[in-house]
Amino acid sequence: MLQQDLHIHTTYSKSDSAVVPEQTVALVAAVRHANIIGISDHFECLMDGDFEGYETEIRQVGFKVGVEVDGHSWVDEAKNYDVDYYIYHCRDQNADYRSLEKLVTTGKPVIIAHPNMFHTNLNHVPSECLVEINNRYVWRTDWKQYYAPFTNQFKFVFSSDAHQPNWLSQTVAHYAAAQLGIEEHLVF
Ligand SMILES: [Zn+2]
Ligand SMILES: [Zn+2]
Repeated sequence: MLQQDLHIHTTYSKSDSAVVPEQTVALVAAVRHANIIGISDHFECLMDGDFEGYETEIRQVGFKVGVEVDGHSWVDEAKNYDVDYYIYHCRDQNADYRSLEKLVTTGKPVIIAHPNMFHTNLNHVPSECLVEINNRYVWRTDWKQYYAPFTNQFKFVFSSDAHQPNWLSQTVAHYAAAQLGIEEHLVF
């Protein structure tokens, strides 16, 4: 059993071709691979009236409600929604760093999604943000070089970024974190 997994996609991420039809909230609830579970579908996929049903379904199974916000252009809208936390795509551009500050002022936890894939400059990220070690992406770059300078500057969360039932795992993320001497921060 994992301690925590706050980055999980379901069939609410309609435009994401990696999501399979079997990846429902109900399936994740049945599997219960972690003690603390949050669902974090793409915010832009919930903007056609799906948010209410999304929130209701997730709360019914006792999970935390998150959304994955794709950079600065979605931040003002995302701040209006009653979520428990944000997962944020922070590309290496000023607009994304500036909007990140706005997200932080909500007082809700903000997790920087797979920053090694986006070349996010962690020097420009507020220290109250949580930095993700993402099982889907961590191994795809030189993660030692990327994360090592920041291991004492941030709290870290490990995520599956599951889009399919068999991705509900954090094996590689835990391996990388152990190599870096990073301990997991439990958000809730
Ligand atoms: Zn992402
Ligand atoms: Zn994601």
